[in-house]
Amino acid sequence: MAVSGNGIPHHRVVIIGAGFAGLGMAVRLRQAGETDFVVFDKESGVGGTWWVNRYPGCACDVESHLYSFSFAPNPGWRRMFAPGAEIQTYLQRCAERFGVTPHLRLGTGIRRMDWDDNAGLWHLLDEHGARYTANVVVAGMGALSVPHYPEIPGLERFQGRLFHSQQWDHSQPLDDERVAVIGTGASAIQFVPEIQPRVRHLDLYQRTPAWVLPRPDRPVSPRERNWFQRLPALQRAWRWGLYWMLEARVLAFAKFPGLMRLLQRSAERHLRRQVADPRLRRALTPDYLFGCKRILLSDTFYPAVTAPNVDLVTTGIREVGEHGIVSRDGRERPADTIILGTGFRAADPIPKGMIFGRRGVDLGVLWKDGPQAYKGTTVSGFPNLFMLLGPNTGLGHSSVVLMIESQIAYVVDALRRMGRAGLRAVDVKPEAQQAWNARLQRRLQGTVWNAGGCRSWYLHPVSGRNVTLWPGFTWQFRLHTRRFDLRAYRTRHRDADVAAPATRIAVSGEEW
Ligand code: NAP
Repeated sequence: MAVSGNGIPHHRVVIIGAGFAGLGMAVRLRQAGETDFVVFDKESGVGGTWWVNRYPGCACDVESHLYSFSFAPNPGWRRMFAPGAEIQTYLQRCAERFGVTPHLRLGTGIRRMDWDDNAGLWHLLDEHGARYTANVVVAGMGALSVPHYPEIPGLERFQGRLFHSQQWDHSQPLDDERVAVIGTGASAIQFVPEIQPRVRHLDLYQRTPAWVLPRPDRPVSPRERNWFQRLPALQRAWRWGLYWMLEARVLAFAKFPGLMRLLQRSAERHLRRQVADPRLRRALTPDYLFGCKRILLSDTFYPAVTAPNVDLVTTGIREVGEHGIVSRDGRERPADTIILGTGFRAADPIPKGMIFGRRGVDLGVLWKDGPQAYKGTTVSGFPNLFMLLGPNTGLGHSSVVLMIESQIAYVVDALRRMGRAGLRAVDVKPEAQQAWNARLQRRLQGTVWNAGGCRSWYLHPVSGRNVTLWPGFTWQFRLHTRRFDLRAYRTRHRDADVAAPATRIAVSGEEW
């Protein structure tokens, strides 16, 4: 860390977020020999999603041996699909093992950042009022970190307890309460079976049913863990097996959505096996193609919905009153607690008033019709800002850690090339960004996510564009990001008073 003339701490790289993305970036920076960086996170612990989400039953629905860093295999996973707390512990250990801990600045959210075109650096302001500057900012703030609070009339009038699944209120048990759950997505399907046996009554408000498959989870036996420990090659082979098994699904999601009808039959069978009542079964059957929304995995959700203390309410919500929820048919159901399982603002990940680029452009305003970036990582007009899990880097079929690691490699290469070429700043050319997105949107057109007949958080609520998913194999994204393609960027060389490298590499990008 350096301190500028006006006493403001300066870092070469500032990373925002200490989840998979931010920690992975920090580890790779250290391994590349970079020491002048800090990792800010507004939370008091590391783990990002896996620190914040503490609802009962929180777990990953991607196999743990793939949902982990390639450079930090964990032979000790205790379940095939690890619970959230185990993943958080894994990330904590990674931070310690790879020497990231001294770089962490926890409990420090970044409130605002402004690009200074004259100085060629970012000015940052944290939530406590402290200021910093940085040459480069890497934003690993998570695509699913801002809770979506539904605009349901009267929600603020409710006199009981009300919380979002991401901000679970553990202060008071739900035992013996009348509970209303709004939403039947990936989070609700995990916590509903956990709370159902404890509550007196549960009203589950479902707007759109989800396709649900059996969850092939099981404990990893001590013997298997021992093998993985002693034979790292075996664990690598296991990971590769998982990788290709999940990767094959891209063919159905993105290339031949018709294949989804075959897979849909497994979900229909699962529903038939677990729900005997034909009326309830009909209410739980989606009317869109399998895969259009995120496919959910659970063996316990349907049995919970069929329990005698649960009512599935599908008539829609008219309003929330002081003591309960009124459905569209005019019936009021009392509730002591309302739990919002209503997801995240995935299509609007950056709030307005937070990130200001060249000429003071507000990224939140620029993205009002949906986010857009180059390779999901850089945005024209926002020099030296790299986003991890930015627009169209999410996956419907496999582990996002694969995408994160591709982007991290791209950023590390960018820093290396900038250093070698004596560059102070890089800004992706608008035409490169446009061409990338035009191609991306063409490829998304025929996919099940766009054409499967559903409304999902993958599509932007205003523009309808798919702004979240990568429409191909993860190895294709890796090929796109394996080298930092300086040609796609406008560049600015270091000022003459800054020590120039002995050999300045010629770059093709124009200066600005
Ligand atoms: P979600 O999948 O977006 O589900 C939100 C639910 O709330 C949907 O059922 C939605 O209905 C409903 N909803 C939203 N607004 C509503 C309103 N105004 N009135 C009534 N219902 C409303 O959110 P999530 O369950 O939190 O999951 C989000 C994502 O997080 C997942 O897709 C997944 O990527 C990730 N996640 C992953 C795991 C994991 O195991 N790895 C676990 C949890 C979450 P509609 O369907 O009609 O919109």
